[in-house]
Amino acid sequence: TSVLWKDYVDDRAVQESDFEVSASDIDPANLQDGEVLVELLYLSVDPYLRGRMRRMKSYYFIGPFESGKPLASGGIGLVKASKAAGFAAGDVVSGMLPWSSLAVLDQAAQGMLQKLEPSLLGTAPLSYFLGTLGMPGMTAWASIKKIAEPIKQGEVAFVSGAAGAVGLVAGQLLKNEYGCRVIGSAGSDDKVALLKQLGFDEAFNYKSVDTAAALKAAAPDGIDIYFDNVGGPTLETVLDQARSHARIVACGMISQYDLPDEQKYGVKNLFNLITKRIKLEGFIVSDYMAELGAAFGATMAEHVQQGKVKALEHTTEGIENAGKAFVEMMAGGNTGKAVVKVAAE
Ligand code: NDP
Repeated sequence: TSVLWKDYVDDRAVQESDFEVSASDIDPANLQDGEVLVELLYLSVDPYLRGRMRRMKSYYFIGPFESGKPLASGGIGLVKASKAAGFAAGDVVSGMLPWSSLAVLDQAAQGMLQKLEPSLLGTAPLSYFLGTLGMPGMTAWASIKKIAEPIKQGEVAFVSGAAGAVGLVAGQLLKNEYGCRVIGSAGSDDKVALLKQLGFDEAFNYKSVDTAAALKAAAPDGIDIYFDNVGGPTLETVLDQARSHARIVACGMISQYDLPDEQKYGVKNLFNLITKRIKLEGFIVSDYMAELGAAFGATMAEHVQQGKVKALEHTTEGIENAGKAFVEMMAGGNTGKAVVKVAAE
């Protein structure tokens, strides 16, 4: 089974009907020299994929998905057969994989694969490599290191999108590793309750309370670190309430991803950057994989084992539901990392 992308969506939220489930025509018996046959076990659905569903080139440097072709995203797979050097049947791999239950990967596609060491995980599922121990976890860990540090004990940190894949790791690290006072925002009361259970000092539902008032109450003396997953008016509010020398990790702007350019929110109070000497810096995780990837894997595995960072997942069963899983994630249906379970480990 494969899931194909139908056509560009530039000015509305993506819907389940934008995806097409199709029988795939892969013949495992027909593997050619240099090719690898991979069975997909888990698939990641991520906000950055939204950029590849637009006609224009997204902020991400890879081009848009092709109409009528399978989508692709981070995945975990099991090598079923190999006629390529470097891979053997039984290897567990992660990397950019097509949304197909079985895929034949040529040499170029193999270049995007990494062999995994499942023993790093103990009894945890391999899907952790798509979340806390994978790209989103690395995003949180490395961007705090590169942009928010140095951090003083007791500084006030605010994380938006706090109950999502990146936000949960960022908030827990800021609290348990750096000793910050951490405030989180998320889009439901259940998510807010979970954040408090995980040790966030304050949390609020941005859909039911006013963000400016909630931040004023939670941080009367202002915010030192803002981990921004949402952009838009929330960023504007934080600029007003930031303290001098605040650091803002510009990680994502999901509140803007479904809007056409002319409707994107124009943040009006950037002069705060100057008067308060705020550092606001953008970040793309892939820039740091070579430099920090190995250190990240070891450190985060330790944090998870020690319970400093709890790994949460929201699992959708079946590759045929991958489009639905993406749509639901964009609408806030996930708590923790949104993954699709395609086949048993
Ligand atoms: P999440 O697991 O956080 O899922 C997306 C969440 O965004 C939803 O659950 C929803 O939660 C929230 N959301 C959706 N619409 C809005 C809105 N209009 N306003 C506020 N929140 C909204 O995804 P990730 O953790 O994977 O990604 C989080 C952010 O980090 C994204 O902006 C993404 O683009 C960015 N990112 C950036 C990377 C980089 O290298 N720069 C790498 C990876 C991710 P809720 O219920 O709270 O609304």
